[in-house]
Amino acid sequence: MSRKVALVGIGKIARDQHVPSIAASPDWELAATVSRHGSIDGVEAFADLDALLETRPDIEVVSLCLPPVPRYAYAAAALKASRHVMLEKPPGATLSECHALEAMARDAGVSIFATWHSREAAQVDMARTWLKDKRLHALSVNWKEDVRRWHPGQDWIWQAGGLGVFDPGINALSIVTRILPDPIHLTAATLEFPENRETPIAASLTFAHPHGAGISAVFDWRQDGDQIWTIEAVTDAGTLVLTDGGAKLAINGEARTETDADGNPLQGEYPRLYAKMADLVREGGIDMDLSPMTHVADAFLLGRRVAVESFNE
Ligand code: NAP
Repeated sequence: MSRKVALVGIGKIARDQHVPSIAASPDWELAATVSRHGSIDGVEAFADLDALLETRPDIEVVSLCLPPVPRYAYAAAALKASRHVMLEKPPGATLSECHALEAMARDAGVSIFATWHSREAAQVDMARTWLKDKRLHALSVNWKEDVRRWHPGQDWIWQAGGLGVFDPGINALSIVTRILPDPIHLTAATLEFPENRETPIAASLTFAHPHGAGISAVFDWRQDGDQIWTIEAVTDAGTLVLTDGGAKLAINGEARTETDADGNPLQGEYPRLYAKMADLVREGGIDMDLSPMTHVADAFLLGRRVAVESFNE
């Protein structure tokens, strides 16, 4: 049986990933959209979520593809109307609003899912399994991409609450918090803010690990040439390297799997998220792991701020 889902915020990620993933899944039917400007051919379009909630009681699930700052009000309205809610990453603009949403979902007896699409990358589970019984010596993240290529015209990422380079960086942290068997916490950070922007263009982070392993991350949006989304873990049994955002894995220099290079960097991630959402709704479950966002919040709390040259598109 397929369930009816409404997509809210018809922008880049809705069109690139959510719409095709829903269309390809037997679990889901795209029943409506909510967007001030966008729509999908053949799907009922609303400009306002309240109108949808009032007139379409048959739609059980609302999937929010908005930027983080406006998302809370939409999520709260959907939960108050007893709809299940799926949240794009990051699940909100602040941790406390995410906690509030989880409490609302519990009160309403509905499911809420804070999705982390990068955790669904092809090799993340294999990396987690391999690291489970290894002694970690060091882990380093390099997440370096060209913001002009991936976020053209997106003003919200440069405005307070838009996260800046942590918008991709939180994807790396979602993988790290999935593959490491032990919890880590941030001990130092440096955030580089362009003089004309409210969010950072680069950041470097250091974490404490319970066994003293050295954990660090570098995020940079000023990358020319090859784009780098790599996590390297050095252990007592050798070195594990995840590349392409978790799509490829090598252990001690040996590639573990071949992946289809079809040019889609998020291949398979969103279909797996929608399959998980179908399971959550079926089981009445809640999945609100906020650990990637906690590290980002800590970086904003503890980070040393450095002004760097203005950024203009
Ligand atoms: P986007 O294209 O800039 O925005 C998505 C849509 O949100 C817009 O089309 C807009 O639709 C609506 N919106 C924007 N600001 C709004 C506001 N203040 N109030 C109400 N609606 C607003 O952004 P995106 O790239 O799709 O990203 C959306 C979320 O997905 C972000 O949290 C991002 O981190 C995540 N994400 C993005 C990507 C990616 O590759 N872009 C990948 C993974 C995850 P209307 O103006 O028509 O209402």
